[in-house]
Amino acid sequence: MEEAAVCAACRYDGHDVCVENCQWRGLFPLSQIEKFRRMVRIYGKATLSREYRETPPLGRAHRFETMHRDALVQEVYRHRGGIAGRLQELENVIQQKDQQIAHLQGTINIQNLE
Ligand SMILES: [Zn+2]
Repeated sequence: MEEAAVCAACRYDGHDVCVENCQWRGLFPLSQIEKFRRMVRIYGKATLSREYRETPPLGRAHRFETMHRDALVQEVYRHRGGIAGRLQELENVIQQKDQQIAHLQGTINIQNLE
């Protein structure tokens, strides 16, 4: 199969062929455009470019794979109301436990009086 003339990143930017010296070509082939879209959604393009610059060439594939896995996890959390929603749920659980403890302490105090 012939390699597409454009990678996922350049297609994302609306190009039909890769820009000159495209850095993304080896990392995001056109078949991975959904993956690239997700990573832009979660991290933003500036962060992706910075990671590219700051990661040694041999570590890039692994680095972006790890970031993509984190992006998938973050998407799941966002889908369920985000981190804030999750924290609120935990807060509610803590409040319920506090009430149970207060109730039990009240029961213990009454028993001690009898
Ligand atoms: Zn490209």
